[in-house]
Amino acid sequence: MLTIAKFDRYDMVNNPGDDTASMTIWFSGCDFRCKDCYNRKLWDKSFGSKHNAPAVAKMVKASCNKLGVKYVVLLGGEPLQQDKEELLSLCRLLNEAGLKIWLYTGYELHDVDKDILKYVYTIKCGRYMAELQQDGFPASSNQKVYRSIAGDFVDITNKFQEVD
Ligand code: SF4
Repeated sequence: MLTIAKFDRYDMVNNPGDDTASMTIWFSGCDFRCKDCYNRKLWDKSFGSKHNAPAVAKMVKASCNKLGVKYVVLLGGEPLQQDKEELLSLCRLLNEAGLKIWLYTGYELHDVDKDILKYVYTIKCGRYMAELQQDGFPASSNQKVYRSIAGDFVDITNKFQEVD
């Protein structure tokens, strides 16, 4: 099962640069415990409610179709500390529905499961480090943003710093 704290059906914040709305899923649970984490409430994996991947995908697809949304953002918390098979199933179903997935994770790119990456459009990697905090996006300078382009993940971090 997936543990989800909140769905944001029309989020204009968390797919920066694409200048359009996303449906954002806030997963519960994060073991990283970064100093000055923006969302400590979501460290607790029991916060929120349990869902299975097909039910979430069905609801997300219906909502996105209704609102004309093309992007889904997975954040938290730490999405990659959810049940791997359930998360993989969700990513696959969203991808098959033609939705583009943004994934926010505290893991580095080389630590992310390749099966998950097959379905990801853009990924923000790295823990938040308060001593490296910066204006704009990403929030700390160690974090990187990669986009899936022609079968590879390309570092596009600078694009956001120039915009912001
Ligand atoms: S990875 Fe994100 S959610 Fe987890 S502790 Fe760090 S800032 Fe908070």
